[in-house]
Amino acid sequence: MRKPFVAGNWKMNTDSRSSVELAQGVARGASGLAGDRVSVALIPPFVYVQSVVRAVSSTGVAVGAQDVYIESKGAFTGEISPAMLKDIGCNYVLCGHSERRHVIGESDELVGKKVMASLGGGLLPILCIGELLEERDAGQTEAVVTRHLETGLAGLSVDKMSAVTIAYEPVWAIGTGRTATPQQAQEVHEFIRGLLADMFDKKLADEARILYGGSANAGNAKDLMAQKDVDGLLVGGASLKVDDFVKIIQAAA
Ligand code: PEP
Repeated sequence: MRKPFVAGNWKMNTDSRSSVELAQGVARGASGLAGDRVSVALIPPFVYVQSVVRAVSSTGVAVGAQDVYIESKGAFTGEISPAMLKDIGCNYVLCGHSERRHVIGESDELVGKKVMASLGGGLLPILCIGELLEERDAGQTEAVVTRHLETGLAGLSVDKMSAVTIAYEPVWAIGTGRTATPQQAQEVHEFIRGLLADMFDKKLADEARILYGGSANAGNAKDLMAQKDVDGLLVGGASLKVDDFVKIIQAAA
């Protein structure tokens, strides 16, 4: 039985005060659910991670980072290591979010190294994968998802892979208000689970959590979550409003 998982990616939003207020509001609203019936993670900008960790301490809500570097320390100006994130109480980390792949220019190989480095540093990676609109229109969705998974999970043992969450986020659905239909999400999630069975084994594939991301909100969360291979939601815009995000957590639980 896979525990549902809802993660809120705040992207480059909030400030020192609103990040703490948002975290406290979510923790209050999700009390009794977070940690028990549903895994919940808040993913603020780096500079607010520590204050959000404090704000949700002992509430069952976990905290993640939006990115990480592949080395543990040294002359890498501007970068943050897995050990630093772990040190301040961060548990999860996004690897290969589409904005990092397509705006910042991260390669598939770098994303794979980030997954590996995160695991080495004791973090739980959320590997984000998904196709562009032109790739979907060209019938390349499965090929892109396969490439992202094979490069993103390269070199992982079954044991290490069991700590990884996959987030399928079709790029055309992120921040556009154009959510994938529940059927579109289910089709790709089922394909991903089959691929995990081929790459690792069936038991791991059956236990792996595969989240959907792309304009998920309080109105569509229930229908998306009703799909048999949709185990949770990675939420951007709707995670910035306490009420909306709490409704999504309730729908997932
Ligand atoms: C995201 O940032 O991962 C995301 C899914 O954003 P949104 O929910 O705003 O589409």
